[in-house]
Amino acid sequence: MKTRHLRGFLDEFLTFRGAETSPAGEHLLRVKLPKSLEPAVGRRDLVLAFNLRGIEEDPASELGTMGNPIFERILGLARDGGVAGVRYQKVPPAGKALAAAPNPAAKLRLAPGLRVDAPRAVLAPLWLLIFRAEYSLEEQADELEMVPLDGITHQVLAQTPELVDYWEALSPKPPAAWESSSPFPLPRPVVLAALAVLEKRLRKRLGKIRRESEGHLQTETASIEAYYRQLIDEVRNTGRRWALAPAQRDEKIRTLQLDWKRRSDDARRSWEPQIEVALAAAGAAMLARVCWTLSSAVSPVGGRSRRRARAPEVQISWDPVAKQFLLPPCATCGHPPEGELSVGEAGLSGSECHPSVEPPAARGHATH
Ligand SMILES: [Zn+2]
Repeated sequence: MKTRHLRGFLDEFLTFRGAETSPAGEHLLRVKLPKSLEPAVGRRDLVLAFNLRGIEEDPASELGTMGNPIFERILGLARDGGVAGVRYQKVPPAGKALAAAPNPAAKLRLAPGLRVDAPRAVLAPLWLLIFRAEYSLEEQADELEMVPLDGITHQVLAQTPELVDYWEALSPKPPAAWESSSPFPLPRPVVLAALAVLEKRLRKRLGKIRRESEGHLQTETASIEAYYRQLIDEVRNTGRRWALAPAQRDEKIRTLQLDWKRRSDDARRSWEPQIEVALAAAGAAMLARVCWTLSSAVSPVGGRSRRRARAPEVQISWDPVAKQFLLPPCATCGHPPEGELSVGEAGLSGSECHPSVEPPAARGHATH
């Protein structure tokens, strides 16, 4: 991810922490930090540049990139405090969106006995999650990765939006007549789904890091080996020259061999390739959805006598902009539900998905 994608978030975050920010041209952000942040950042007045053009325009600016100490300190603040922002899509009038939405009972294959309640105009988050990946190899710079994830389907967007433009086109105030509740705290199933996406992306890079680590390890193992072989040879020769008792000599060699093994094990451990991932920022872009509650008229198991069978309920949604239904992940397999939809105790399931029935990464998502 390009660092300039961070601009919107940093602007939001620093404002939230009491800073005054003003854009200075296209590439720069002027920041006056509150006194409270001075100890952590080291300065109160600064200009952040989001690319090299910005640096050219104002040579005193700080380049917003890994390796710049000021930028890293700000990011550190963000990481410790967590950057979280909510913004709202400019939505059509709720009545119009409701009237234009199709009837799910007519458009989706619903299992017999499923009830659909009246549609509601609801705002639901599109999550823009920014992770920081730290690599165990020093020459590999840390990276920022953005995962845009739909809060309903838990699917990653096919196209990563230009974060700055996207975020800035959203409004800080919720629109009237649309139901809206705070998207935070970040739901666990969303985090797990985002991590699964990230893991796939990083796996490729881990292969490269692994090869590089192995190179380093081989060099170090060889130099450890040369060192101990020489010492052991010396003990053998000394033993001959000074008539060291064979038992003593063997004992010394054994100690050296153990030491050798310990040093080699240490080297292997320290060159083990690792990527540490931390969530650096979470933005919730609240988007317009028409939402229905699906409920199973049939009580699950055991009839109504058992704890009055909490009739399972599931939300399904319609995206009035993309004009498509949005379904939560299948409770059986975690994939998008396909085929006939039914509601069980775990949530919504499709009759034709579950390709290999891997357990859903996010059990219990229907309850959030
Ligand atoms: Zn399934």
